[in-house]
Amino acid sequence: MMEQPTAKLDEIEQAARAIFDVMPYTGPVDRMRLTWDQEEASTQRDEALRYARAAVRAVTQAPQAAFLDEDEPEACEACGEALQLGDPVYWGDGLLHALCCGPERDGFHNANEAPLADGEPIPRPMIWNGNQGAAELASDARNDELCVDRFGLVMKAKLAAARCKGRAGWDDPAQCSMADLSAMLIDHVAKGDPVDVANFAMMLHNRGGRIETPSPQTGLVAQPLSEWHEDDGFVTWWKFPVNEPSYIGSPLCSDWPGYHTHWTPHPEIPTNADALAAAEGSAE
Ligand SMILES: [Zn+2]
Repeated sequence: MMEQPTAKLDEIEQAARAIFDVMPYTGPVDRMRLTWDQEEASTQRDEALRYARAAVRAVTQAPQAAFLDEDEPEACEACGEALQLGDPVYWGDGLLHALCCGPERDGFHNANEAPLADGEPIPRPMIWNGNQGAAELASDARNDELCVDRFGLVMKAKLAAARCKGRAGWDDPAQCSMADLSAMLIDHVAKGDPVDVANFAMMLHNRGGRIETPSPQTGLVAQPLSEWHEDDGFVTWWKFPVNEPSYIGSPLCSDWPGYHTHWTPHPEIPTNADALAAAEGSAE
């Protein structure tokens, strides 16, 4: 930031006048305090100017120097704290710390002032550099950090809500195993809320483990031929090891191959896409 020499002089004089006004009065008791412009005040004036030059030099070299152009430092509209250089900020009615805008997507709009569509990210904040006109967009790194912090707020809120409902014990191996945490994480993947999944991942991370995937045995188990009864009807037949397509039918069929040893239920009967389209067409 370049400073005009005259602006600097004004600043020094302004500071010197303020110092002059609070300097201890050393004159005779029966006289009024001297004012800045009085001839007799020259000694005190010079002294005040000396202090002011030192003070202005010191503060303009401080990292917060950019704020000194303003009477008051810029503050966050939400929390009232002074903005620090490098803070991620958004412009609302005034300047706001990025995290003071809250963690929810509905608190934000896109560049066209429209609500955020699904899949549209919360816009990047600007980085406060003391000059509203020249603030720069947050870098990839700063935005990543902010997004993690923002997500952390939502995780904490969900954890707090769960604690209020009496849920506890994730950090106690006696109450909650790594397999339990893994199973709950996988269960919540299917339910679809990324915040729940993140919280279980956080718990696993803090317990120092990996996500244990359930053993594949929970899938289909083939029954032996002896378990098949006429009432089971047409089913899917297998010969282990499986190295050819399965056979669908029953041992009573004329084309029964005769060498299959195990069976699983017949696949679910699907809906016909053509019939579905026709039904939708006639409904309009
Ligand atoms: Zn704030």
